[in-house]
Amino acid sequence: MDIPEARKLLGVTSRTSAAAIKKAFRQLAMQWHPDRNPAPEAGEKFARLAAACNLLLEQESSSAKANAAPDKGEDLRQDFELDLEQACRGGQAEVGVDKRTECDACAGSGYQEVALSQQCPTCHGSGRIRRKHGLTNCPDCEGRGYTRRIRCPECEGKGERLARSVFAVTLTPGMLSGDELRLEGKGHPAPDPAGQPGDLLLRIVLRPHALFGVDGNDITIDRPVSTFILLIGGTVTVPTPVGPRDIDVPPGLPTLREIAIPEAGIPARGKRAAGALKVRLLPGLPTVSSPTLTKLYRSLQQEIERTQPHCCPELDAWEQRWLSAR
Ligand SMILES: [Zn+2]
Ligand SMILES: [Zn+2]
Repeated sequence: MDIPEARKLLGVTSRTSAAAIKKAFRQLAMQWHPDRNPAPEAGEKFARLAAACNLLLEQESSSAKANAAPDKGEDLRQDFELDLEQACRGGQAEVGVDKRTECDACAGSGYQEVALSQQCPTCHGSGRIRRKHGLTNCPDCEGRGYTRRIRCPECEGKGERLARSVFAVTLTPGMLSGDELRLEGKGHPAPDPAGQPGDLLLRIVLRPHALFGVDGNDITIDRPVSTFILLIGGTVTVPTPVGPRDIDVPPGLPTLREIAIPEAGIPARGKRAAGALKVRLLPGLPTVSSPTLTKLYRSLQQEIERTQPHCCPELDAWEQRWLSAR
């Protein structure tokens, strides 16, 4: 028996570790041990499996010395969507990832034994396959043309499948789109069970928000207010991703105004400084009047007319120029 034949018999590859070779042997041995299997060919099959296992383990121990550190598993990369609230507050979040895992249906071998023999798919029942030197016995059915060993339909012979894993992730406050989180050892498993699994790399993507905008590390918001607040000044409550906050509006012109509150934007993280909260105050007047409001508007208008040269100099100048000549 040569090494490729032994591998075929046990359903392992050249990258399979000693532990996995032993495991593959144990599974097949349970099925073919003459004490458990009354078939006449069981004794011989069991002996061949044992020989294949020994051969591969001897070969494995010499190659393992040459290559002491087993390969690390592959890193797993994926986007991780966050709400702006989560990004600002930090805390615990959950992330679901699809990781490669051993196929349960075939215990990672890629093959399954079926109850009834069927035509060998490798040689299509002829028992022979064409190689460089000519026809040779088919290794999958050992020349019989039929086999009880079929490629695992669950994993299509790969011996592995993708399984959903969910991890808790601790978020530090101040994540921005494009930031990356590395979760050591949460990536794909190593091909060799002795090897370290890869890492999980999460690339942060902030979900668009219905109320807030993000500009660098600043947070922007449009806040409608009464025009009178802009005229007389006062306190306005503004929502922020971490809860409402009162801001002081000084008296001034009744036009759109922006107020920036330093360090109330995306929190500082690492070397990145905290951003500002930029509030645009959008002036508005009541759209529905009432007898009381109408009375107040009337007296307001009378007071404006009485003090017009002082409080409305542009209007007054216009009227002086275009109306007083008549
Ligand atoms: Zn499988
Ligand atoms: Zn065959």
